[in-house]
Amino acid sequence: MKIKSQIAMVLNLDKCIGCHTCSVTCKNVWTSRRGLEYAWWNNVETKPGPGYPKTWENQEKYRGGWVRRKDGSTELRLGNRPRVMSQLFSNPYLPQVEDYYEPFTFDFSSLKGKRRMKTPPSARPFSMITGKQMDKVQDGPNWEDDLAGTFDQRKSDPNLHDIDTQGFAEFERTFMLYVPRLCEHCLHPACIPSCSSGAIYKRKDGVVLINQDRCRGWRQCISACPYKKIYFNYKRMKSEKCVFCYPRIEDGQPTVCSETCVGRMRYLGVILYDSEKIDEYAAADERDLVRCQREMILDPNDPEVVVEAERQGISHNYIMAAQKSPVYKLMKEWAIAFPLHPEYRTLPMVWYVPAMSPKVEEVAAEEQKGPADAAAGEMDYFAKVDEMRIPAQYFANLLTAGDPQPIREALAKLVALREYMRRKTVDGDDQPSVPEAIGLTAAQYDDMYRLLAIADYNDRFVIPTDPKQQGSHHFDERTGLGFDDEEENFVEGCKRHNIFGGI
Ligand code: SF4
Ligand code: SF4
Repeated sequence: MKIKSQIAMVLNLDKCIGCHTCSVTCKNVWTSRRGLEYAWWNNVETKPGPGYPKTWENQEKYRGGWVRRKDGSTELRLGNRPRVMSQLFSNPYLPQVEDYYEPFTFDFSSLKGKRRMKTPPSARPFSMITGKQMDKVQDGPNWEDDLAGTFDQRKSDPNLHDIDTQGFAEFERTFMLYVPRLCEHCLHPACIPSCSSGAIYKRKDGVVLINQDRCRGWRQCISACPYKKIYFNYKRMKSEKCVFCYPRIEDGQPTVCSETCVGRMRYLGVILYDSEKIDEYAAADERDLVRCQREMILDPNDPEVVVEAERQGISHNYIMAAQKSPVYKLMKEWAIAFPLHPEYRTLPMVWYVPAMSPKVEEVAAEEQKGPADAAAGEMDYFAKVDEMRIPAQYFANLLTAGDPQPIREALAKLVALREYMRRKTVDGDDQPSVPEAIGLTAAQYDDMYRLLAIADYNDRFVIPTDPKQQGSHHFDERTGLGFDDEEENFVEGCKRHNIFGGI
């Protein structure tokens, strides 16, 4: 067992209000520069929809992530080394500016200098890339916000696969949710081995960064990242990506997107994991990927894990933070959070709690019945889940490689939690019974309620400071194709990960 630590994030989709504050604050801090006008390291997209960049989930088009080979190992979907090298000067799998959008602004100064007119003056849009006036603004980073656009556009969302979409175009039956997205700081990142300059590396705290001195702007990483979370700065001719606000993390503070989240739906904390399992679990059967990823996360309260972690040099404050980690509870203990598109096999470290969505008619019926009736019989939690407006299959396609059962189980826990708290606070029952089938105790429900509903700042963000991570930006720990810290060099990393056909 080789224990490593990772700062991970969980987003509770139930609480995202789609305000985009996270995106705007991130942009103000990191990407309000020439060359990155179109880039949103954190974006919030309305689903179902094509997303940003458009149809980023279409890996046939972009060739992101990993595929499992016949011998049970993984290989970049982009191909082996000769293939990647042959594409250096002409990569057909890169998103183009129209796949993002042409960034625009308005010349507001022209409004002020106008002489008095009969009609109000208007500011014409102009491109922030070319500086030329644009006839029309026809696109943006979330053009389908709040179900804008036609159902045909939304239907391009591949997560509607296996779902009978008949009727979703109707107002009464349609559904939507917000999905905030950022770099996943993966445990098995596809961006690192795709970089022919060896510029991308993973730090000890799990943050994936691009060494700007080494980046040569080849952009294979942009194709290889299945989440499309690396952006090309066309002014500097370098690739850039979310840095997980590492200067703040080193100081024990949450990322800017988490700090400013209006919905308080983001959680940050440490997990300990067994890095020896990465290769095996990344190549697991598709339906086993979520289970495997959960299995890789170690119990930080297990004395054996603690002793071994200390022996292997994990600092004491990291271990203590892992024991108090809100993300450990959501990801592993309660198993209500899931990785985004685990089938890309990058073992992402930003997970999501699926949102609940009661049917409108159901809510009205419950209200008419009153609390006494509702408490009278034991509720069928799974039946409630199946009546929800957002089909469990949609979340399954988004979060569990198509298997709806783990999603149904997680949503049943959330329905049961709501019922448990209703009996406590509305019916005045001090010790309501807990449904055994759901598999959680009353103490866990109380804990879950605290974390999901009323958690304060220190509950949501448990980030250790670590002097070892401070000061140097760990560029010296860059390892090119390996992501195993200083022990591995470029060639050994290639061989171990079967990258580029084993050079
Ligand atoms: S999500 Fe981030 S760490 Fe994962 S492959 Fe993409 S850029 Fe790399
Ligand atoms: S700030 Fe929070 S609530 Fe608002 S869009 Fe971002 S994640 Fe959602």
